Amino acid sequence: MRSFDGDRLVIATHNKGKLEEISALLEPYGIAVTSAGELGLDEPEETETTFIGNARIKAHAAAKATGLPALADDSGIAIDGLGGAPGVYTADWAETPQGRDFEMAMSRAWRELEEADAPFPRTARFCCTFVLAWPDGHDEVFEGHVDGQIVWPMRGAQGHGYDPIFQPDGYDTTFAEMDRWEKNRISHRAKAFEKLVKVFER
Ligand code: IMP
Repeated sequence: MRSFDGDRLVIATHNKGKLEEISALLEPYGIAVTSAGELGLDEPEETETTFIGNARIKAHAAAKATGLPALADDSGIAIDGLGGAPGVYTADWAETPQGRDFEMAMSRAWRELEEADAPFPRTARFCCTFVLAWPDGHDEVFEGHVDGQIVWPMRGAQGHGYDPIFQPDGYDTTFAEMDRWEKNRISHRAKAFEKLVKVFER
């Protein structure tokens, strides 16, 4: 694995929440962080059909445009009874002309499971992929996932996205019923982060 020996990194995102989360993680390593959004870079189209593919597109576009190493992530939920959908289209399922509506997206997931007469438990996993790309075209991939099942009706008010219908294995609460600390300890993103930070340890 190539290690990171620079002191500057571009986070390939236009999302302020993601930037803050990743900046906080990297703070102990003394790396100065800027983002694609702050630098006014174009957002590339995510045309791939895998999390890795789309994270690669974002990371390489930012590395090429800036001449700096760049970090991108892609995440979503894959539901077995729906052949892995919504997968890379997790956020798209929530799009409406008025903004994102995750209740609509969760209702669609359950409706399609019912229509498919999917067996119980209706297994699913949240996936998170980080790609760190260098301007010379090299990249390193870090993945994390958490297994669980889709439950209905929605339960809990914490978290975001599809949390109210995802119950991780070994728990009887959904992600939206867990306190944030507990979710952040076991989540797909935490697992991918754990692997990623090894690159920055010197
Ligand atoms: P992206 O990584 O910005 O492409 O977004 C992926 C989508 O996956 C988000 O809009 C969320 O709906 C969903 N997602 C990713 N991680 C989580 C999570 O921890 N809980 C709930 N939904 C998530």
